Order: sequence, then C-alpha cells, then structure tokens
Amino acid sequence: MHNNNKELTLSAPLSGPVLTLAKVPDPVFASGTMGDGIAIDPLNDTLHAPCAGVVVHIARTGHALTLRADNGAELLLHLGLDTVELQGQGFSVLVKEGDRVSNSQPLLRYDLDQVAQQCKSLVSLLILTNSQDFQVRPITLKSVKVGEPLLHIIRRQTSGGESAEDFIGEELTGHVRIAHRGGLHARPAALIRQTAQGFKSKSWLHYAGKSATCDSLIGLMGLAIGEQAEVHVSCQGPDAEAALQALLAALSTALAEDSHAAAPAMPAARVRAAEAGVLHGVCAAPGLVSGPLFRLSAISLPQDPGDHDPQQQLQALETALNQVRSDIDHTLNQAKKQRNSDEEAIFSAHLALLEDPALLEAAGQFMASGMAATHAWSQAIESQCEVLRQTGSTLLAERANDLIDLKQRVLRALLGDAWHYEVPAGAIVAAHELTPSDLLQLSQQGVGGLCMAEGGATSHVAILARGKGLPCMVALGSTLLDQPQGQSVVLDADGGRLELTPGPERLAEVHQIQLQQQQRRAEQQAQAHSSALTRDGLHIEVAANVASATEAAEALANGADGVGLLRTEFLFVDRHTAPDEQEQRLAYQAVLDAMGDKSVIIRTIDVGGDKQLDYLPLPVEANPVLGLRGIRLAQVRPELLDQQLRALLQVSPLSRCRILLPMVTEVDELLHIRRRLDALCSELRVKQRPQLGVMIEVPAAALLAEQLAEHADFLSIGTNDLSQYTLAMDRDHAGLAARVDALHPALLRLIAQTCAGAAVHDCWVGVCGALASDPLATALLIGLGVRELSVSPVQVAEIKDRVRHLDASECRRISQDLLTLSSASAVRHACHQHWPLG
Ligand code: PEP
Ligand code: MG
Repeated sequence: MHNNNKELTLSAPLSGPVLTLAKVPDPVFASGTMGDGIAIDPLNDTLHAPCAGVVVHIARTGHALTLRADNGAELLLHLGLDTVELQGQGFSVLVKEGDRVSNSQPLLRYDLDQVAQQCKSLVSLLILTNSQDFQVRPITLKSVKVGEPLLHIIRRQTSGGESAEDFIGEELTGHVRIAHRGGLHARPAALIRQTAQGFKSKSWLHYAGKSATCDSLIGLMGLAIGEQAEVHVSCQGPDAEAALQALLAALSTALAEDSHAAAPAMPAARVRAAEAGVLHGVCAAPGLVSGPLFRLSAISLPQDPGDHDPQQQLQALETALNQVRSDIDHTLNQAKKQRNSDEEAIFSAHLALLEDPALLEAAGQFMASGMAATHAWSQAIESQCEVLRQTGSTLLAERANDLIDLKQRVLRALLGDAWHYEVPAGAIVAAHELTPSDLLQLSQQGVGGLCMAEGGATSHVAILARGKGLPCMVALGSTLLDQPQGQSVVLDADGGRLELTPGPERLAEVHQIQLQQQQRRAEQQAQAHSSALTRDGLHIEVAANVASATEAAEALANGADGVGLLRTEFLFVDRHTAPDEQEQRLAYQAVLDAMGDKSVIIRTIDVGGDKQLDYLPLPVEANPVLGLRGIRLAQVRPELLDQQLRALLQVSPLSRCRILLPMVTEVDELLHIRRRLDALCSELRVKQRPQLGVMIEVPAAALLAEQLAEHADFLSIGTNDLSQYTLAMDRDHAGLAARVDALHPALLRLIAQTCAGAAVHDCWVGVCGALASDPLATALLIGLGVRELSVSPVQVAEIKDRVRHLDASECRRISQDLLTLSSASAVRHACHQHWPLG
C-alpha cells in the first residue's frame, strides 16, 4: 500500500468538550495501551470522518470503526465506553468496510439518549492505533465543533525492520476459548497486542480460516471473534513458549471488571497432538491430585401429574424459600466474620436472586395452573437461565449457574432432601457444572479435586475453589460425563489436563508428589507449637488474625503464638442492636480464654469505609474510605469508644490484653486515647494499664512512626489499607485487584521507615495485614525489621516453617536492595529468586 507520509491535520469527528486520554474513565484507553489519541464528550449524534481515507474495519456491533488515512495512519473512532455491550442497539453505520470517505463525511449515527442511558459513558475516542509509527499533537483541548481542527499527526522516524532472530525456533501453537465479555473487541484486543509486544517472538491469532498478527489491533478486531469462541494462537521466535503462555492466559482471562476477583493468570488448554486418554480443559484453581472419579448428577424430578392446590403449593414454596434464605444468611454471616469478601459477594447475589420478582411471579403463575411447587420453581429458573444464555454474554451465562444453584437448593428444601453428598474423601468430583453451594459442601467433605464439563475460569465456583485451595478444572467437554464411576484419574489442573487412564507408574508418581506435600504439611504442623527462630536465632512471633473465640481456639490448636488482630467490628456483625458493655466484655474475655496463656491484640472498632454495621448507621459520605472511619469515630461518637475501652479494661488478666487503634494519622489521636484510657483505669480502679498499640495503615502514620512509637507500646502494620492509601487504589476494586499489591516498593519503603522509627524507641513492629500471610513476603518483612507476623490461622505452621529456613542478616541485606526496585512485580520476582517457595 502506498502511504504518502505527509503530516496530517485531523478535524473534530464530533462536537463537544475535548479531553486528554488520561481523563477517560477507562483504564485501557486512559493508559494509552491502544495508542495515543484524544477524547470528546459528544453533544451531537453523528460521527464524522476526521480526514479522508478508507474504512478498514467496522465493529460487528457498530459502535466503532477504523479509518486508514492516506499517510498510513490508522484511526480508531470509538463511540462511548463499554458500548460493545449494547450489541448494536442505537447505532446505525452509514458506510461499509472498504469505502473511501472524504473529510467530515458522516460515518455513523447513534441515538444519543438511548446510548447515554445504557452505557457507562458517552466519552468517545479518536485513537491512533499505529502510534509506533506516528506522533499525535493536540491542537486544542477546548470544546470543538465537527470539522474544526483537532490534532496533528506526524510520522516518526523509523528504525529498521524485523530481524531474522524474530523468526528462529519452531512455531508453537495452542488453543483457547475467549473469555472477554463481548469477544475480542477493541480493549481486549489492545491488551492482546500489548501482551504480544512484550516478547521478541511474533504471534498470530487464527480464527474461522483467517489469521492476524497480534501486532495489529485492526487485524485482531477484524477476525470478529465473539466471546467463548475458540481461537488458535501461534508464536515463533526466541521466547515463543513464554509468549504463547502469556497470550493464552490473556485471552482466557476476562478484563478485570468482568471477573469478580482477580484470577491468577491460569494456563489454558493447549493443543499439542491430541493425547489419548487425556481431556484438556481450563485451569480454574491450580494443583495436582489423583483419586477415584465421582460423577455428581443434578436432581431429576419425576413427572408432575398436575392438578395441585395452588395455595398449598405456594405455601410449600414459601417455606422452602425461607429455609434457603436463612441458610444463605448464615453462610453470609460466616463470610463476613471471616472477611471472606468473595464468598460474601457471591452469596449476597444469591440472596438478591432469590428475591427476584420475575422468578417469583413466573413460579406463581405456574402454580396457579396446578403445577407442583417443585416443577414450577424449576421451570421459572430454567426460563430465566435461558434468557441469560441467549444474551450471548459469558458473564451473564455464568450467572445462570448461580440460578441453577438456587434451583437445586430450593428443590432440596421442597423435597426435604438432606443436602449431603456421599462423596468419598479424596475423590475427584466430575459434574456438568458445579454451583457455589455444591462447592462449599464438597470442600467440607474433603474431596480431592473438581472437574466440570462446562464452566469458566472466572465463574463464582472457580473463585471459591481457588480460595479453598481445591484443584479445579472447567470446560473439559461432555466426554467427561461418559467416564465410568470410580475410575482412577489424575487431575493436573496446572497443566490443564485430566488424565483418564493413568498407568500405575503415573499414579505412583502423583501419589508420591501428594505424599511429599502432605508430609511437608505434617512436618510443619508438628513443629507449629514451637517458637519460630531464624537460622541465626532471631525470634519471630507468628500470631493469628481471628474474628471470634472459636477461631481463636482453632488458631491456638494450629500453633499460633497469640492473636495478632481481633477485628472487634466482626464480633457483632449478625445483629441489629448494639452490644452493651457487658456483652462486649464477655466476648473479649471468651477470646482471651480461648488463647490459653497467649496474648491477644484487640483492635477497637473499625467501622466506616468497607465495613458497615447494621446497628451503627453512619452518615452517608461522599468518600467513605476517606471519611469517619476507624479511630475517627471517637470524634463523632466518643461514648462508643469509651464503652468499648471500659469493656476491655474489665477482662482478665489484663496483662494478656493489648489494645490496638485503627486508622491513626497523627500523634494527638494516640495521646487523646491514652488519656481516656488512663481516666477510665482510675474510674474502674484498674491498676495495670494494658499495652496500647497503633495500626500503621495510612502513609501519614508510617511517616510519623518514630513520633508514634514514642508514645505507643507497639505498632502493627495494616498492609491492606496501607496499600489502598499509598497506591490510591480501592482495596475492593475488582479491576485493580491485581495491582493492589503490598509488595510495591513504595510500601516497602514505608514499612522500612516504620521499623526504623520504632527502633529508636525500642518499640516492636508487627504486620497484621494480608501481606503477613504471604510466604513470599516473610523474608522481606523480617529483613525490614518486622518482629511479629499475624497470619490466617491455617497458615501459622507454614509461616513458622518459612521463618526457620531464613537467615535474618541475609534478609536484612537483600531487603535493602529490593527497596530500590521499580514495581511490585519486580519485587515479587526478586523474592522468588532469593527465597524460592518450597
Ligand atoms: C489492614 O488494613 O491491613 C488491616 C489489617 O485492617 P483491615 O483489613 O481490617 O482494614
Ligand atoms: Mg485496615
């Protein structure tokens, strides 16, 4: 193709205020991943050509198109954000692919009202997708009218072409199902291109007889790959294997906002030569296990003779719904107490679905015609599932699985079935598709692993399986369901394989690996009750984070040296009235009693932000995480804090009770509470004042650690909030979950500064945020000066074992170097290098 290489002035394709890309509320566009460009918040309803050129691509859903200008610049014009989800509704394209258009020619018209109401934002983009070849210079950042000058485009100096090295080595191929919502539209395609560009090898996607290089966004979009479509990937070059793995993971992992929590990049199904006796699927939770295959079937209902009394059936359904509602409520409360936000979100959604008027109305109508409650409920659910599946959206199709879950739960309640599977321990459970409740049941029964014919790696079951550490594979195909019951199989979730006919040698090998893992766990457990000393004799206290006396007892049994954090706000979540002083005292005393002679750190109530209590409604805030939370509550409700301190001062022995203050930002807050504590001690005639500590979870506190340590008995670093406030990333933001990483060098510097400041006053420092439970971080935290790690109870033995294999002086030396690294992933990588996980 001939490109005339000329500088080009683009005219405004829309009328409205102009924004830089950085201001666009979409991380992919804003980061420039798709290329340089500009945005307009449109006030008109027609998109015009910004220059003369050829229409080289029109999105299937009519919300975007690409124009190639005569100088070779490729311009993506994208109307609104997330408009791919409108599936073309409200858009009419006025040109065809291949058309030559003149400057300012109308290209597509859209229904301003409809699109504005249904999409996230109308902000529209003009992106230069081959920015590697051209530079963009905005002419104005004010409001523009269609046709007014907007941008200059200038060709960059080129620097040679592809080297022969790019094509060395064999071509590696793999296949994968596209997990991206709406298919490979602009944003996921841009991520694929960016992934491919991180490697020297050349990569291509192949679909429906067409191929495109991963370097070309237009090429990728031009393949018109829908979601759940299966595509082939090929890579050739010096790092082809790594490129292939990265692309398979990127293609099979939906954009962050599509999944509930950041799923780790999972290796997807690979095409090698078809292996006999092996089913390929997608890894939803890693691990390697062997065991007998156990087929789990859904409930099947007998024929309904009909002619039932509608009133009776309605009554029966209501009773069953109430039972299920209260079961889910119970699960929810447990999840809240354990701060298991995945479980909480999933089962809150189930409660909402259970109350969905469309479902209840449909079931009611079926019953009114004489149908049994069981069949009416089933049919109502099935028709809603069909609606979700028809949307063609993976995300919504996965929600159908949640409806099936509710179908089964309510049927079980209606049929009076004891909801219990007789699954042998260690079995590999195979099912068409498991539901979240199935998973909770099965994990309690000690099954070895899970595999499903259907399902996605971003589904709720997958999230739960990862949380429970249960190896799990999805999308294995219906052949899975034809396998005989009881046959020995190997579930190699890491490799995306289910081996149906493993020979004795393979079984022995897997068994050996499992035994080694179990043995290691048993050895760690056997040592769990001894103190953890590094090889050079430094004592590290490994305590546990708990939310109740029962969990405290579990922590003690697991070898915890104490409780490093009792989150008191979770002691009283499942209630509508505030606990009085006496009730609080009993609850705190119970935790102390459960811990034998160990000390217990009790944090004063930390509501606000992500933590809300029914009985303590707080004023609505514009920015709750920056509002009245933690110790700031004392500012507005001082009587609540006084009541809690009174209750705490009455536990015995007080020597084992340490009080911890959340969200402190300055020394005065600490001094104020110290004075209150002293006054209450005199009032209650308490002689011994308990130790008082400060949470370091705001950068201000870390920076003031030395001053705080002068007046505090200990400091405890809350890495969850410290990450949120240091990185300015919401800790519960699904789209940012992978980036809210406490191993970020900025956080490490704050931790180092905290430890150094505390050392001046001989004050000890612990970590009670989630970073303490990450075995990869143990060495680094010790190296930075942390002396106590408060971890989840089940991890006490593992973290103690980790401590025992470290040399504290070496940790100190290496940690200093890691402070200078440039990103959290660089730190993670270095930690793996220096202190490999077993
Ligand atoms: C933290 O912020 O790291 C912490 C331990 O407190 P929470 O998670 O309860 O906010
Ligand atoms: Mg916190």
